[in-house]
Amino acid sequence: MSMNRIQFQKGLSFPEFQSLYGTEEQCEAALEKTRWPDGYRCSRCQSTLHCVLHVRSRKTFQCGVCNQQTSLIAGTLFHSTKLPLTTWFLALYLVSQSKNSLSALSLKRQLGICYRTAWRIKHKLMEAMARREDRYTLEGRIEVDDAYLGGEHPEGKRGRGSENKIPFVAAVSTNEDGHPMYAKLSPVSGFTQEALESWGQAFLAPGSTVISDRLACFAALSVLALHLPEKTGGRKPKDLPQFHWVNTILGNLKSALSGTYHAFDFSKYARRYLSEFSYRFNRRFHLKGLPVRLLVACATTGPCPERWLRLETEH
Ligand SMILES: [Zn+2]
Repeated sequence: MSMNRIQFQKGLSFPEFQSLYGTEEQCEAALEKTRWPDGYRCSRCQSTLHCVLHVRSRKTFQCGVCNQQTSLIAGTLFHSTKLPLTTWFLALYLVSQSKNSLSALSLKRQLGICYRTAWRIKHKLMEAMARREDRYTLEGRIEVDDAYLGGEHPEGKRGRGSENKIPFVAAVSTNEDGHPMYAKLSPVSGFTQEALESWGQAFLAPGSTVISDRLACFAALSVLALHLPEKTGGRKPKDLPQFHWVNTILGNLKSALSGTYHAFDFSKYARRYLSEFSYRFNRRFHLKGLPVRLLVACATTGPCPERWLRLETEH
């Protein structure tokens, strides 16, 4: 699909979304179907016999054999939320259908909630995306480059940039026709051989071919893949066709971030912001189905309390 076809593909219109997920009952049914596609099954005794109760207005299943009670939202990303599911679904919709995502500030305005709640929703959704992204490896021909996120001091002070710069590995796989397939953007502790070896072990499928420049750390990839270090001859990789797609993605990332976020906390939450971008890029042909995919991610991502979310750099 060409870039234009991606841009002009049909998403899910707001009236369509409203007719599918406009009421709490519709959202409950969608979450239930996502969690238990073959019908509710007790997690303790595996029985399918059950009755449905409402405990503090939350749909709850009670096992007909062992009486275990399971709330519809328990154990998911929505665990113990006080918000109606309609608010969460609207957030899923807005985040997935906008071109470059939405900041917590935009979510606050559009959902009519306080900033702190919007921040929690935003970071929980980004965490769900990051968990999905962590599951996949890249394969085939892969362009790799070193890059930095941020670098400007939040208050705009000059000369203090470096302390906010987060090093990350940018990689994109291409198919036999030279078209981009999947991207991976991963923060690393630094551009060292150890860091790149760990990255390669986690994210390169066996038999891959990696194209990079001759930065020393990339040599670590040669034990994991066919590594083809390219002579850049003093030119920057951005001027070389071998690195066309990784450079295009880095350019798109820059526009997406600067167009969406004004003040940012990239240094602490780099993994989540980068994963949000790659999640969207890697599913760019599926705009209409994205809210449902994100719902699956939310249903399978466990509870992420705010205190835990704010500890990101320590994970
Ligand atoms: Zn049971």
